[in-house]
Amino acid sequence: MNEGVPIAIVIIIIVVVLIFALLAAIMNGIAMQHLMQSKGYDGNWFWQGFLFGPFAFLGASERGDRGKADYPDYIMEAIRKATDEHNLANGGWRCESCGKVNPPATGTCDCGKSRFASVEKKD
Ligand SMILES: [Zn+2]
Repeated sequence: MNEGVPIAIVIIIIVVVLIFALLAAIMNGIAMQHLMQSKGYDGNWFWQGFLFGPFAFLGASERGDRGKADYPDYIMEAIRKATDEHNLANGGWRCESCGKVNPPATGTCDCGKSRFASVEKKD
């Protein structure tokens, strides 16, 4: 009768480990799906992450980012122009140093010029 208790504990430990392994696999699947969607790949990637875990992520890291490369230059240019116009119409500012249009909330351009320095130069 004494052997009954350890066996029950072993079974509980095995069940708990299996549950954690399953949870980890599900999380890998969800993470894989998000990763591939963020790279611009459609479709169901859940099972790749679920079944192959870290190996699926290794494969994913070798795939390029498809999101922007797929758009032709003229579309990217149109998006950039529309963004600039939107920013300028809503309190954004054009950097005098490099010409980049910055959103209203941005105080310093990517090139290091501050909004105030840019405005002063303009006046
Ligand atoms: Zn600038």
